[in-house]
Amino acid sequence: MYLKHFLAQNYRNLQQLNVEFDPNVNIFIGQNAQGKTNLLEAIYFLALTRSHRTNKDQELITFDQDYANISGHVYKSQVDLDLRVLITKKGKKAWINRVEQAKLSKYVGQLNAILFSPEDLDLIKGAPAIRRRFMDQEFGQINPEYLYFASKYRQVLQQKNNYLKQLAKGEAHDRLFLDVLSDQLAGVAAEVIVRRFKFLSYLREYARDAYEYISSSSEKLTVIYRPAVAEIAAEDNPESVYQKMLASFQKNKAAEIRKGTTLSGPHRDDIEFALNDKDAHFYGSQGQQRTIALSIKLAEIQLVHQLTGEYPLLLLDDVMSELDHSRQSALLNYIHGKTQTFITTTDLAGISWEIIKKPKVYRIKSGKIYLEKGELNG
Ligand code: ATP
Ligand code: MG
Repeated sequence: MYLKHFLAQNYRNLQQLNVEFDPNVNIFIGQNAQGKTNLLEAIYFLALTRSHRTNKDQELITFDQDYANISGHVYKSQVDLDLRVLITKKGKKAWINRVEQAKLSKYVGQLNAILFSPEDLDLIKGAPAIRRRFMDQEFGQINPEYLYFASKYRQVLQQKNNYLKQLAKGEAHDRLFLDVLSDQLAGVAAEVIVRRFKFLSYLREYARDAYEYISSSSEKLTVIYRPAVAEIAAEDNPESVYQKMLASFQKNKAAEIRKGTTLSGPHRDDIEFALNDKDAHFYGSQGQQRTIALSIKLAEIQLVHQLTGEYPLLLLDDVMSELDHSRQSALLNYIHGKTQTFITTTDLAGISWEIIKKPKVYRIKSGKIYLEKGELNG
């Protein structure tokens, strides 16, 4: 799939940006704070109706404006699509071919995009919450059922936690109602967990190959899903995951009431990335961690392709200059002819231009975009 035409209005500092993209490689050059990341973020938002930088959609609207509008024309092998997202102070709405979607979960997944930026190092280095967010965002964009169950889980978890707080404060007393909520939560948790196992097992294969390819080393990368309830295993069917979740809630019941919160479940899961069986969170060098993060993103490209039949867009924010020549060329060879790719950079130096085949090069300045030869749009 590729994004042909793109329009952003009142999106951060992109007040009126109207552009035709190249189906292969698009490069955006510009000094700091000109709008390069904003442009990638806007493309990502068109795909996922979420920013990779913030959960507060209001921040995306240009200062002193009431709305932000993003739209694009997408070519896929089977269909062409007009996509549009509108962000207002009240919330957001999305359209497919000018038909407003009652639910955003019906919209997400029409356009797939994988974004890689230097902050993705946190996927390895950072806290477990970052890895859970990664699963929810990335599996959600390829599997509407995952999106549904992950959001249902958050909702039921909130309900249960609210009730636990009431019990903790002595404002409620009905333990049976707590059991009902736990039962419901265990059911939804099982749906989330079996999907996390499945998608991570696919991702594991691709990530191992990508790591080997990018680093040209013999180190073996392993991606391991670590459910909060350690008894749950990859072989378990949804029913036995549900039973184990339920048993965990039962076991923790007194402690949960005391603390007023749910102590186990998908909201406490984690992923381990190991190099030669050593957890890279603790033992990996900066360079190894960065290469793992890149390998995970490349693995996602394959995962999206496996599950949807289309390659996603690849958005590379400020990452080229951080990779050495051989990793740059491995990366570009890996994606060559597969993804439509968007690359930002402040500096032409540090990029191995000879390995990028016929890119379309744009300059970004004060939120406006110019083709390197002449103005594209005012
Ligand atoms: P760098 O090379 O430093 O990463 P960049 O070109 O990627 O720079 P962006 O992050 O895309 O920069 O854009 C930053 C600019 O966008 C800043 O000048 C910031 O003030 C502006 N900006 C951010 N949010 C808004 C907003 N809601 N309204 C208007 N401008 C905004
Ligand atoms: Mg930037």
